[in-house]
Amino acid sequence: MKINIIGGGPAGLYFAILMKKADAAHRITIYERNGPDDTFGWGVVFSGRTLANLRAADEPTHAAITREFEAWDNVDVVHRDEKISIHGNSFSGIARIRLLKILQARCEELGIEIKFRREVADVRSIHAAGDLLVAADGVNSTVRQVFADQFQTNLSVRPNKYIWYGTHQLFHGLTLTFRENEAGVFAAHSYKFDGHTSTFIVECDAQTWQNANFKDRGDDDTRAYLEREFARDLHGHELLSNNSKWINFVLVRNGNWSFDHVVLLGDALHTAHFSIGSGTKLAMEDAIALAECLAETNDTRAALGEFVTRRKPVIGDYQAAAMESMLWFENARDYLRLSPLELAYTLMTRSGRIDHQTLRHRDPRFIDAYEIATQQSNKEPRAGGAL
Ligand SMILES: Cc1cc2nc3c(=O)[nH]c(=O)nc-3n(C[C@H](O)[C@H](O)[C@H](O)COP(=O)(O)OP(=O)(O)OC[C@H]3O[C@@H](n4cnc5c(N)ncnc54)[C@H](O)[C@@H]3O)c2cc1C
Repeated sequence: MKINIIGGGPAGLYFAILMKKADAAHRITIYERNGPDDTFGWGVVFSGRTLANLRAADEPTHAAITREFEAWDNVDVVHRDEKISIHGNSFSGIARIRLLKILQARCEELGIEIKFRREVADVRSIHAAGDLLVAADGVNSTVRQVFADQFQTNLSVRPNKYIWYGTHQLFHGLTLTFRENEAGVFAAHSYKFDGHTSTFIVECDAQTWQNANFKDRGDDDTRAYLEREFARDLHGHELLSNNSKWINFVLVRNGNWSFDHVVLLGDALHTAHFSIGSGTKLAMEDAIALAECLAETNDTRAALGEFVTRRKPVIGDYQAAAMESMLWFENARDYLRLSPLELAYTLMTRSGRIDHQTLRHRDPRFIDAYEIATQQSNKEPRAGGAL
């Protein structure tokens, strides 16, 4: 089979690896507009369950990835200078560039051709030249735009702004920090992903962004502003830019996932808000599912149909959970009147995937403290009322 893949991110690279492993006779070409050492952003997170899937799909990649992992079990919520830790979770972080390098090296080992610095504009020629075209070209997918009539894409540009920095301050856990000033409310999502660097994403609502006048601030001024705002959390470390810019999250959904022998994969197909940290996981699990479907039949169209049947419910569930989480952050300012414990509880349960009992099972001490605090505060008259 002649397989063309546009996009050498986690989805495209991992799919190529799994297909080549399944049948070494496949001729696979990946077109990637960036060079092998270019990347955006800093680190990515995986949950425990994802790792089991990766191990089953390709042991060597799993081993290489987990060797580099920074693992932790706590979510830390910082509000009014108080840190609440919730244990019993399972996360691991890795630098995005390290993940890409591992996947690139595995592709090379298996004899997969990666054409770096090749931005594909003429999608139709590549479509005509192969047996399968995989659009793994990310959130702004060119393939999706070229075949817009086929995919029936729905894009929702969300109101919050976010900016993705790194820092040498190490956050030992998935840390959600809230800071308020005269402009409004800022939330930072941070976690370490190697021995000396953490991801530090700052998110704020449109009003806060406007009040802080970020439109007129240059990159250095923006960074300095946020360093001041999170000074107590950064402990003197600076924010590191990787051409970091404010962006709006774009929620991607597609009415059709494939047509003819073209299929969307990863962020080109769907996005889930970064606050549930599952974009890379979903992209790689898409690759696993698509490779499995293609291995089961020689009929490519039937395989693509089966891929949709298997993945749609899973993606639907994640997007529903991510939507709840995203809405929580879009309305974060409404929650900040809560005590740190209450805020931590609403954060842990925001996506609907973790309930009270699960939390009790994961961290009984946290739930005991929460129950005592809420029983206590229910006895006292409350300013502002409940949410
Ligand atoms: C702020 C932020 C934080 C995130 N945090 C996490 C996290 O903690 N955990 C997590 O799992 N995920 C996270 N994600 C999501 C994650 O980055 C993506 O979901 C994931 O990278 C999707 O993989 P992909 O291969 O589908 O797309 P991408 O990684 O976007 O790869 C697409 C590739 O296609 C290439 N390309 C695009 N167009 C063309 C073209 N025309 N020709 C050739 N090449 C092309 C691009 O250069 C790119 O390399 C985060 C995302 C953001 C924005």
